[in-house]
Amino acid sequence: MKAAILTDVTKCIGCLECVAACKRENKLEPDLPRLWQKSDGLSAENWTSIVRRQEKRYVRKQCRHCIEPACASACPVGALHKTEKGAVVYDSGKCLGCRYCMMACPYGIPRYDWDQPVPYVRKCILCYSRLNEGRQPACTEACPTGATVFGDRDELLAEARRRITQQPNVYFDRIWGEHEVGGTSVLYISDVDLGFLSYQPRLGEKPMPETTAIAMNAVPFAFVGMGGLMAGINWIIQRRNKLTGGKEGGEE
Ligand code: SF4
Ligand code: SF4
Ligand code: SF4
Repeated sequence: MKAAILTDVTKCIGCLECVAACKRENKLEPDLPRLWQKSDGLSAENWTSIVRRQEKRYVRKQCRHCIEPACASACPVGALHKTEKGAVVYDSGKCLGCRYCMMACPYGIPRYDWDQPVPYVRKCILCYSRLNEGRQPACTEACPTGATVFGDRDELLAEARRRITQQPNVYFDRIWGEHEVGGTSVLYISDVDLGFLSYQPRLGEKPMPETTAIAMNAVPFAFVGMGGLMAGINWIIQRRNKLTGGKEGGEE
């Protein structure tokens, strides 16, 4: 099974139960307003949010768990990777704090945790430990209306097509996430346009990792060379481990 989430915007009532469940599950602190924060509600302490649109429409935002994630290909030390089950997870023990992943993500999802002495990158990890226990994510379990549901990606695509076919006057004839940048494990159907979630035509259907890797590889090697880069990376990792008491911060 390839784990996925289907969010049907027409069913969302904006109750925020999914947001609260995510915070409980991941022990996320209350969020403080920051000047530099984007207005979409995502932050290091909010891995999913509800964005209000016109006419009482509410759209859940979270990491799309891309099938070929640009964030993972941009990371020089492999701190992010796509798992067999479909989740794109993060290992804070490996993270350098370089934020290449934040620049590479086509959907603007990862956020920096500025409150930590050694800042980490934070985002939804598709409740990876729950998936390993055969359970569904906390957010989909908490949703009272079935607006956001968990399942196998192929089955959710079939369900999404069925709903669009049955109610062509309600839904856009599109499953967001089916093809964009090679497809994602978080899918949407909607009666309002979701272009504001960064589903722009320029994204195309081609996966992004190839181009991201080429761009990211070219910069540091040109300046410091392979030896200098690796020594620097090692120094930063050692320092981070020292500051965090040698704690391995893996999220898996
Ligand atoms: S949406 Fe962004 S952070 Fe999430 S897997 Fe895709 S590239 Fe990575
Ligand atoms: S899948 Fe888990 S980590 Fe991701 S938004 Fe839902 S509850 Fe949060
Ligand atoms: S719990 Fe369900 S209905 Fe409530 S805001 Fe989240 S997705 Fe919408």
